[in-house]
Amino acid sequence: MKNVYPWHKPLLTHVEKQLSMGRLPHALLFRHRYGFFDEVLGREISKRLLCEAQNGKDACKHCHLIDENNHPNILLLDVVNEKVGIDDVRAIEQQMWQTSMFDKPKVAYIRGIDLLSIAAQNALLKTLEEPPKNTFFILSVENISRVLPTIMSRVQRLRHSKVEQHELLHWLQRHIGDQALTEAAIAKIAKLTDNAPQPTLALLSAPDEVAKLEKEKKQFVDFLAGKISANVLLAQINNDNAEAILRRFCRYTEGMIKFLFEKSSAITDKTTENLAQHPKWHGVSSRSLYRLYDILVSHRHLVYTNVNMQMQLTTHLVDWQHDRSS
Ligand SMILES: [Zn+2]
Repeated sequence: MKNVYPWHKPLLTHVEKQLSMGRLPHALLFRHRYGFFDEVLGREISKRLLCEAQNGKDACKHCHLIDENNHPNILLLDVVNEKVGIDDVRAIEQQMWQTSMFDKPKVAYIRGIDLLSIAAQNALLKTLEEPPKNTFFILSVENISRVLPTIMSRVQRLRHSKVEQHELLHWLQRHIGDQALTEAAIAKIAKLTDNAPQPTLALLSAPDEVAKLEKEKKQFVDFLAGKISANVLLAQINNDNAEAILRRFCRYTEGMIKFLFEKSSAITDKTTENLAQHPKWHGVSSRSLYRLYDILVSHRHLVYTNVNMQMQLTTHLVDWQHDRSS
């Protein structure tokens, strides 16, 4: 039987509790975070729905079939990794109406519904409005703002609880094998990935990568401060590595926004001077950081097109740096 990741436990316990009270809604949605192994959550929730003990811990035949991705009651639609259109959504709906096996519910797990077209999302909405009896829909999404509000109002959103640092460090320490690393050393590396366990684990066995990332982060901060140009910052970017780099740039920018926000709330407590309420860091305001964030996010969506990423992004970042203090 596969182990449950510690940071998934609170969410799964919540599902188990609702299920035991007979209060679990037929449509559930969770946000898929990068680097937390959230792709296994669909499987784990399905186990709770089909397992004889309703907890996925008894190693019953349902649990086994689910672990082998072989349970006939589970229908999977992976919008993240496959091309999925409106016809596929309709096909799933039809299959949901067919008789289920073992006198157990049918479960549709649709991964990445934010990547479905509006038409396909509308088709899904129809099914959610009038679901067949004894069926469950488990939906995952990366970007909630790209999901129809009408879908959001039809589902129960399962929320992730905060990942405790000590829990994460403990988990990492158990999984790095026989490397002798102190908690402090692990924590420093985890910080580079914003405490996401999956990429941290990969970094822990790749010291060269750590050095590269530290250098990249320093360069990004230097760019924000106006010490290096967009050309230097983006010298190594291309359409193949842009997705990963932009993801990290977004994270660094979020970190800086948070830093300025904390600075501004700390100052507002002490003085009412207008100037002090809008602190800047090396001349950069939080408003211009939000602007930068938008530029980075919109370019992440261009990765899969024919656009020359390096040229496009450089142009935008040169402009941003020019106006960064406004
Ligand atoms: Zn079971």
